[in-house]
Amino acid sequence: MDKTLERQLIRLFGSLEKVPPELSELVEIVNQSYIDFQNEYKLVERSLEISSEELTELNQHLQEESEIIEKTVKTRTKELNLEKVKLSKIAENMSTGAMLIDKFGKVIFLNQPARQFINFHEDHYNGSLEKLYSTFSDYPISEYVKQCIHNVSLEIDNIEINESFFHILFQGMSGEDGAAGLLVWINDVTQEKILERSKTELVAVASHQLRTPLTVTKGNTEILLDESYGPLNEEQRNIIEQTHESNENMIGLVNQMLDITKIEQGEFSFQLLDVCVTDVLERVIKEMTPHAIEKNIVIEYNPPDSVTPNIKAEETRLYQVFQNLIDNAIKYSQTAKKQSVIFISIKSTKNKLRISVRDEGIGIPIKDQSHLFSRFYRASNAEMSFIDGTGLGLYIVQSIVRSFNGEINFTSEENKGTIFTVELPIIKDN
Ligand code: ADP
Repeated sequence: MDKTLERQLIRLFGSLEKVPPELSELVEIVNQSYIDFQNEYKLVERSLEISSEELTELNQHLQEESEIIEKTVKTRTKELNLEKVKLSKIAENMSTGAMLIDKFGKVIFLNQPARQFINFHEDHYNGSLEKLYSTFSDYPISEYVKQCIHNVSLEIDNIEINESFFHILFQGMSGEDGAAGLLVWINDVTQEKILERSKTELVAVASHQLRTPLTVTKGNTEILLDESYGPLNEEQRNIIEQTHESNENMIGLVNQMLDITKIEQGEFSFQLLDVCVTDVLERVIKEMTPHAIEKNIVIEYNPPDSVTPNIKAEETRLYQVFQNLIDNAIKYSQTAKKQSVIFISIKSTKNKLRISVRDEGIGIPIKDQSHLFSRFYRASNAEMSFIDGTGLGLYIVQSIVRSFNGEINFTSEENKGTIFTVELPIIKDN
């Protein structure tokens, strides 16, 4: 029996024997409760002991962990500070101006070159943004800053200020919770511009100088081929014909170089007059047909159903556009296996004329397609099989079409063929 219960019963009844028998069942129940209680108490006590041991262990572990974390944080902070110093040294020493603006539109960093470009020499950043705006006041800089804070990137090229040229890039940044501000990169590109200008001028002068001897050679070979100076034997004719052809190629190249210099000098604009596109296209087809037949190519022309409305253009330049496209279609047609066909059509819609030139030629590999209208660009398959190309024609053609407010596009599949489409707006007279 439980000792405490025993003591209580002796105190109440004198001795255990005197406990009335009718209480014995009750005494038994109480005794069992005592025992149960004590067992449970022991269990709780034990589990508390275990928890406290575990807690001490855990605490120790946590302390160790926290020491490791503290150490790592200290080292990382040191490293980051070092990185920060390095980065700001780099930012200070580069020639590009850098301005960092936070998402609230406040300048939080400005390097030395940027200060110089905007003529701001305070040892704080207050007022530097306004100085940026006033320095480039002819350009919508504040609008660009506002837009780019929302993770947009924009740039302005060819900014001219007091005979200096700048290029500004507004680079929006995004953080975990959306916009994080922007970086403004200011580049002084005056030297590059001067170099580019002198290069363009040199090409222009050289091309002009080449024109005269090339024209003389053209005239002379034509006179000789006409046999104005007496009959030619076969060998003489071959040599003169080759000279004439090479000279023609050189004239073509010089003309292309002159066009390129005009485009670069911003002088590639024309007096736009009413032109009948169908007439021009049909003249080009007539001129190119013998050349196509020589190469076992048929030109299939679909004339328009009705008279096409005139457009505003310069006739000789429009001629040049069609000549280039059809010449390319002939040049890049596959004629080895069978006769090849070039399909040409002209259609008029409500607002524009659509002229398309489709060939069954080598096509343009997908990887080259996005570069096709760049200067000197030639697709890899053309470069391998057709060495005499310059990669200048399409660049010039696009500039001409754009100067007529039109657009040129193409679709192509390698080894299947290409379709070039020119769209020119119909200008309605009121
Ligand atoms: P070029 O023909 O003198 O190389 P272009 O500027 O006229 O220069 O054309 C640029 C490049 O575009 C060509 O070198 C060729 O790779 C590709 N190209 C143009 N037209 C075609 C065409 N009809 N079929 C396949 N490739 C073409």
